[in-house]
Amino acid sequence: MPDYVISQDTLPRDGRFGSGPSKVPTSRLEALAATGSALMGTSHRQAPVKALVRRVREGLGELLALPDGHEVVLGNGGTHAFWDAAVLALVESRAQHVVLGEFGGKLADAVAAAPFLAEPSVRRAEPGGLVLPEAEEGVDTYAYVHNETSTGVMSSVGRVGDGGALVLVDATSGAGGLPVDVAETDAYYFAPQKCFASDGGLWVAVLSPAAIERAERLSRERWVPPSVDLVQAIDNSRKDQTLNTPAVATLFLLAEQVDWMLAEGGLEAMVRRTTASSGVVHDWVARTPYATPFVADPEARSLVVTTVDLEGVDAAEVAAVLRANGVVDVEPYRKLGRNQLRIATFPAVETSDVEALTACIDDVVGHLTRHRS
Ligand SMILES: *Cc1c(COP(=O)(O)O)cnc(C)c1O
Repeated sequence: MPDYVISQDTLPRDGRFGSGPSKVPTSRLEALAATGSALMGTSHRQAPVKALVRRVREGLGELLALPDGHEVVLGNGGTHAFWDAAVLALVESRAQHVVLGEFGGKLADAVAAAPFLAEPSVRRAEPGGLVLPEAEEGVDTYAYVHNETSTGVMSSVGRVGDGGALVLVDATSGAGGLPVDVAETDAYYFAPQKCFASDGGLWVAVLSPAAIERAERLSRERWVPPSVDLVQAIDNSRKDQTLNTPAVATLFLLAEQVDWMLAEGGLEAMVRRTTASSGVVHDWVARTPYATPFVADPEARSLVVTTVDLEGVDAAEVAAVLRANGVVDVEPYRKLGRNQLRIATFPAVETSDVEALTACIDDVVGHLTRHRS
C-alpha cells in the first residue's frame, strides 16, 4: 500500500481524471438529489421524463448546430449497442474502417463478424498514430473515431467517398469537447459518460436524412432485434422517449451538462477549455525530462485524452500513489500495455486541477526517485 502523502496544497480540488466513466461534478449530484420526488421513480411515458428527453435532444441540437433534416436519436445500451444497431441497419454491404486503437477496432470486428456483410476494408494505424479514411471503390460506409480513447489520438472529421456512402463517426469521447461540423457526417454518435459528465448506459446519435433513409430500408430487408432496431429508436426519439425504460438519472445529468455547456458559450467555449487543459499537460511534458508524448504528431494529440509515456519511473507505481491520495484513473488503457499515464481533459475537468495534477505527478516522482536512491 503506497503510504506517501501528497500535501493538501498540492492536490487538485477534484481528483477524477478518468477517460470514462469520467468526472461528474458533485454539484450535479446535488442538483439530482434536489429533484426529490419530481423525476426519479416516475413514469418515463409521462411529461416530466419526456420533457427531460426533449431538453437533451434540443440542447444537443443547439450545441452541435444540427443541420436541417438531421435528428438527435437516443437509445439504451451505450455505444456498444449503437454499434450493433449500425451493423444491422447502416452498413449496406462493405464498410471501410479506420482502426487507431481498441475502439475503432471493435466496430470493425463486429462488421467483419456479420454474416450478411462483405469483409470490411481496414486501414490500421500503429498505436499512437493517425490514419484517415480514404475513398475506395465499392465501399458504402466509412467508419472512424473522432477521438481514440485508448491512445489519445484525435482525427479530423470530414466526408469521404462519393455522395452515396455514409460516414459514421464514433465520437463517444470526442463529442462536446472537440470541434466538429456534423453536416460532414451521417451518424455522429456518442455516450454520456465522457465529455457529457453523466453516467453510462445510453447512446446518442445525430443522424442525417441519408442515414435515416438507409436504416428504414435495411430494417425492412433484414431481421433486426427490437432492442437494437435503429428505426424503433428513431420513432421513439421523435416522441421524446426511448423504446424501453431509460436511466432517468443519466438523462438528468446529461441535460445539466448540455445546459451548462450552452451557458458557457457552446461548443467553441468547450473546445477552448479542452485546448487549455490538454495544453497544460502537453506543456508539462515538454519541460519534464522523464515524460514524453505518446502521440508523436502534435496535430493528432487529443484535446480531451492525453497520453504520456514515462521513462525511468514506473507509471503504475505513480498511479498507485496518486490513487491512494484520491487522484484516480490516470492508468493507461489496459490493453495498451505501456509505461504510461492517461489523463482526461474533458470539459468538466477544471484546468486548474490539471495544473495541480502535474504538480502531484512531479511530487510523487520526486519521492519515488529519492526513495529508490
Ligand atoms: C468509451 C468508448 C466506447 C464505449 O462506450 P460504451 O458506452 O461503454 O459502449 C466506444 N468508443 C469510444 C471512442 C469510447 O471512448
